[in-house]
Amino acid sequence: MKLTSKIALLVAVSTLALLGSYYLLSLISTNNAIVDFQERSSVVIGDALLDNKLVLSEIRQHPPLQNAEELLSFLNRQYSNQFFAVFNGQKLIADNFDRAALKLKSTSLASGVQLTLTDQNGHKSVIHFKNPGLNVDVNTGPLTLYWLPETLVDQGKKQDRLKEQLNNDFTLTLLALSLVAIVLSWLGAWYFLLPLKVLKANFKQLEQGMLDTRMPVARLDEVGEIIHSFNHLAAWLQDMNQQYKHMSSDLAHELRTPLTGIQSRIEAMQDGIVPSDRIQLGYLLSDLEAIKRIVEDLNLLSLTEARQLKIHPQWIALADVVVEIHSNYKERARAENMEMPLEILDRREASVDVSRLRQILINLLDNGFKYAAEGGYLGVSVAPESEWTTVRITDQGPGLSKNQQHKIFERFYRQDPARSDKKSLGLGLAISRQLAELMAGSLEVSSNTDRGCTFILRFRTQP
Ligand code: ADP
Repeated sequence: MKLTSKIALLVAVSTLALLGSYYLLSLISTNNAIVDFQERSSVVIGDALLDNKLVLSEIRQHPPLQNAEELLSFLNRQYSNQFFAVFNGQKLIADNFDRAALKLKSTSLASGVQLTLTDQNGHKSVIHFKNPGLNVDVNTGPLTLYWLPETLVDQGKKQDRLKEQLNNDFTLTLLALSLVAIVLSWLGAWYFLLPLKVLKANFKQLEQGMLDTRMPVARLDEVGEIIHSFNHLAAWLQDMNQQYKHMSSDLAHELRTPLTGIQSRIEAMQDGIVPSDRIQLGYLLSDLEAIKRIVEDLNLLSLTEARQLKIHPQWIALADVVVEIHSNYKERARAENMEMPLEILDRREASVDVSRLRQILINLLDNGFKYAAEGGYLGVSVAPESEWTTVRITDQGPGLSKNQQHKIFERFYRQDPARSDKKSLGLGLAISRQLAELMAGSLEVSSNTDRGCTFILRFRTQP
């Protein structure tokens, strides 16, 4: 599964699980709190209800009451667990709610009276009496009486407690689930970042020059792809490093030989051991040319590799260039007793830089003479291959193993340096391939050891 899908799935599942748990836990704690609240309230209200007739008969048994205050103090004594509000018409004239530090405000409504109770903390509770109240006569005139059991007044406080309990429950649930979320996030981050940590450690090893560092690819997601790329990068760096080391030592070696030759010859001339004549100067010139050739080859290679070499392509029949170069080698072939047949089966034109094409052909034919002379055969052919024209140079020399076939196109590769003459640097084929590619062509080799090899040069023909 892709990393993006994994992360999305993890976040979605965690969020759903947490939200679901929060919802469920909140539901359960709300239900419990409400059931508890109702149980307690119903019992208390049941105990505290006061009957109208009972109150009226109690008042009647008492000697006549003077006014609202006397009525209130009588009721206070009689029903200590009740709160009373005494109205004269629609006006509230006395109450005993201050006993519970409550302020009372009354509002007359079409359907009875509404009492607003405000406690010390400013919490309000509203009680609506829909009944007309109990009419009581005192000496000053008729009054209307409303009452409430103390426990009901206490209801506001209970509601506050319920709210507080719910708040506490919610906060606790939230805290517990936040903790779970933190642990889940940490586990997720750990799971996703662990391979990156390992990758970082491996990069450190690469930095420290341990270029054989490789990581096992155990995952199929993006992390697996990164590890795969890391291994590729490490292999490429190791290869480059190897090539660089070979190149520097080969280059030092190749330059040292002619330079030492020049130095010792000049010293010998100074000491009068050899004469300073044209022959000696000729030797010096040949050593200098060897150095110049190395520098030119290197320059050419770096230019082609950087795709900076200017080429001048023109449409020309490859066969014409091949025939021309082949004819230049006829004499040499005769002298070295080499059979060198030429077969032209394709005369189509391709877009090539003629001088660079010549350079490639010369290098391939030179190699044929240098490395496959014992086969006594160097065949050249130009043949069609769908939209390509191919030039094949086939020898019957020692041939190349699969590994060698790959390596001969690397710079400075020489299969047997001891066999190579001083003009062999191992750059020829690397340059030839780069040149062919620069002209949108290709150069490859096919070979069987003991059966010689065939170098195949391909260029696209005119459509
Ligand atoms: P150079 O000829 O300067 O050594 P090249 O790049 O032309 O460099 O060749 C690289 C190596 O490839 C040679 O050193 C030789 O070992 C091998 N090689 C090239 N051509 C042939 C061939 N026709 N048969 C066998 N080996 C060859």
